[in-house]
Amino acid sequence: MPTYLVAGGAGFIGSNLIGKLLEEKGAKVICLDNFLTGEKKNLVEFEANPNFEFFEHDIVKPIKIDQKLDYIINLACPASPPDYRSHPIETLEVCSIGVKNLLDLALRNSARFVHASTSEVYGDPLEHPQTESYWGHVNSYGERSCYDEGKRFAESLIYIYKKDLGLNSGLIRIFNTYGPKMRPFDGRVVTNFIRQALANEDITMYGDGKQSRSFCYVDDQIEAQIKMLHSDFEGPVNIGNPNEFTMLELAEGVIKLTDSKSKIVHKPLPADDPTQRQPDISLAKENLAWEPKVQLEEGLKKTIEWLRKLGY
Ligand code: NAD
Ligand code: UDP
Repeated sequence: MPTYLVAGGAGFIGSNLIGKLLEEKGAKVICLDNFLTGEKKNLVEFEANPNFEFFEHDIVKPIKIDQKLDYIINLACPASPPDYRSHPIETLEVCSIGVKNLLDLALRNSARFVHASTSEVYGDPLEHPQTESYWGHVNSYGERSCYDEGKRFAESLIYIYKKDLGLNSGLIRIFNTYGPKMRPFDGRVVTNFIRQALANEDITMYGDGKQSRSFCYVDDQIEAQIKMLHSDFEGPVNIGNPNEFTMLELAEGVIKLTDSKSKIVHKPLPADDPTQRQPDISLAKENLAWEPKVQLEEGLKKTIEWLRKLGY
């Protein structure tokens, strides 16, 4: 039976992924996380499961696991813009030293290694929608560069481990993903808007709200990640939902679904905030036989329900 290692498993996507991996009969899941942006409560439901093991560990420090690993997936890295801006050095380190430590672990185990890269490698894209062959339009010296350039460095490292050292690797570029287990105060748009709408508080719209994003529900996201783990596809491959919305459309949708009295107020647009983002998912369809099933309204309803249950 396979043993999976999930780095960053106490985070939003990682904890959803662990739940799904543990459904595979006999599969063992080891999680490494240092709780930089993840939460202990995301793991509570797995604690009694004998097939689950957790090590509180910073992957920037050397990693020693005395068990044979079959699959390693790396999700460790702050992902919300306010998070990586508050932890810029940690972000650069986890994307470089942390990734290298995991790559060495994967080589030692002859394990399949899947890494979570991001649509941010395309920066503020001049090509729309974004295909994997687009090289991006990224500011290397700015507010988002600790994340964007960290992720680009990691891609380059993985390329070398694959081409020169023969690692069995897969690279996914994740586009905005949302759903239950996001940290309610992570500062991302979906959690901010839903919390604000549920409390009938002002909705904080950064800039004019005409910037777009394409939102993928977390269940679709982890289905693609599991397919990537079980394939030998190298990627890079975009994983996201191509349905694109402006932030104004998102706010209006959230207000409607929560029956809220909130008003939209405009705040300054953060520096280097991408104006548009939409994945071309042809490669994922072809190579992983994957496409998202949950559309925004249904996913938002589930996320609203979850935040309501938490008391928001
Ligand atoms: P998250 O912040 O909820 O999870 C990241 C996890 O990594 C946290 O549990 C954190 O504590 C852990 N971590 C950070 N540094 C670590 C370190 N040095 N050692 C061990 N653990 C560490 O973020 P998320 O939304 O779940 O994102 C997961 C991954 O997916 C990230 O790599 C992110 O860049 C990528 N991604 C996410 C999105 C998205 O929309 N959610 C989009 C693109 C890419
Ligand atoms: N945003 C917003 N109000 C908020 C939080 C975010 O208008 O309270 C905007 C942000 O400026 C960006 C978009 O929503 O244009 C998505 O932001 P998020 O931080 O969720 O992710 P990003 O795609 O920028 O990494």
